[in-house]
Amino acid sequence: MFEVKNIEETDLAQNPVIAQMSKYNHEQLLFCNDNETGLKAIIAVHNTVLGPALGGTRMWTYKSEMEALNDVLRLSRGMTYKNSISGLNLGGGKAVIIGDARSMKSEALFRRFGKFVNSLAGKYITAEDVGISPIDMAWVSMETDHVVGLPGKSGDPSPVTAKGTYMGMKACAKVQFGSDSLSGKKVVVQGVGHVGEYLVEYLSKEGAEIFISDIHEPTLKRVSETYGAKVVGLDEVYDIDMDIYAPCALGATVNDDTLSRLKCSIIAGAANNQLKVENVHGQAVMDKGIIYAPDFALNAGGVINCYAEVKGLSSEWALGKADEIYTTIKNIVDRSQSENIPTYQIANKMAEERIQAIGNVKLPL
Ligand code: NAD
Repeated sequence: MFEVKNIEETDLAQNPVIAQMSKYNHEQLLFCNDNETGLKAIIAVHNTVLGPALGGTRMWTYKSEMEALNDVLRLSRGMTYKNSISGLNLGGGKAVIIGDARSMKSEALFRRFGKFVNSLAGKYITAEDVGISPIDMAWVSMETDHVVGLPGKSGDPSPVTAKGTYMGMKACAKVQFGSDSLSGKKVVVQGVGHVGEYLVEYLSKEGAEIFISDIHEPTLKRVSETYGAKVVGLDEVYDIDMDIYAPCALGATVNDDTLSRLKCSIIAGAANNQLKVENVHGQAVMDKGIIYAPDFALNAGGVINCYAEVKGLSSEWALGKADEIYTTIKNIVDRSQSENIPTYQIANKMAEERIQAIGNVKLPL
């Protein structure tokens, strides 16, 4: 389905756009420009076999149009895999607005962007991402209905993300320890923000021994006092004698340095892009006997929450759907072990297989 085309480097230089699209089989790109408002944006629709392409809009000071193009192509493809592995009837898309989120925002810019989103007639559904606030999205929604995650709608996705992360962590424990109970297990939660704190709550109810770190001292103190979690230093997190490492703050924390230090047997957290170099560190984790729960499958609660809004389903439905992440992660880990292939690769394969299978279902009888 996503067969990588054999594109010569010269092709990429001479034909940077369509050649880039065909590399990972992107369906459509929409380039948006408006001189009045200064809007410069790219909307990428990677794949709509399963349903409309859903993914957030990011505003960033890209150094060049090529950098923005690469980012939107990569992120939209990632959304296809995330939505597919989560069993949702959604495809993958993403949008980037090129510009400084501190100085370039205006009602007119976001409404103009909303017009472009609307011109895709529901093929792309947008939401908040890095650099975008609820106010910005409220402006977008004045020009299009194809927006999710607005204030007063499905609300904060973090409880659903935390529930899915917790359930997936238990699935890893089932394989690694023979039981999915986390009682007495030493769990390090790095970052106790929106998702991390809800995760700590689940872990504390189950009787895990919890260690936390965060750069924000007042949050750290409050969470520690509320749940009886032990505070550890920002760098110390990698050296603690622990069973489970749960990154819930930053990406790329699974790297050469940390892997030489981590003593855990499971890595399961909500942060995006945990493996610094996917093919290197995904394999290295496996070689060390650590079970890594692929981040995009584990933290799918956020997109499940958006899907509930798209379909008019309740927050109870979303929390229930997040329970299914247990089975998804268990299947990924079991298959990874039987095929001796890193979990992140198995998760990608499973996402592609679902798109292939459902694509066939959609063929005319
Ligand atoms: P957040 O900003 O609310 O929380 C992140 C926390 O990490 C903050 O408390 C921050 O102070 C802390 N932090 C930052 N740098 C740190 C460091 N070096 N060491 C320790 N702590 C540090 O974000 P969130 O919504 O809780 O999301 C956490 C992660 O999960 C992010 O990577 C996010 O992209 C990902 N994620 C979140 C959701 C969601 O529903 N919120 C969904 C999918 C993925």
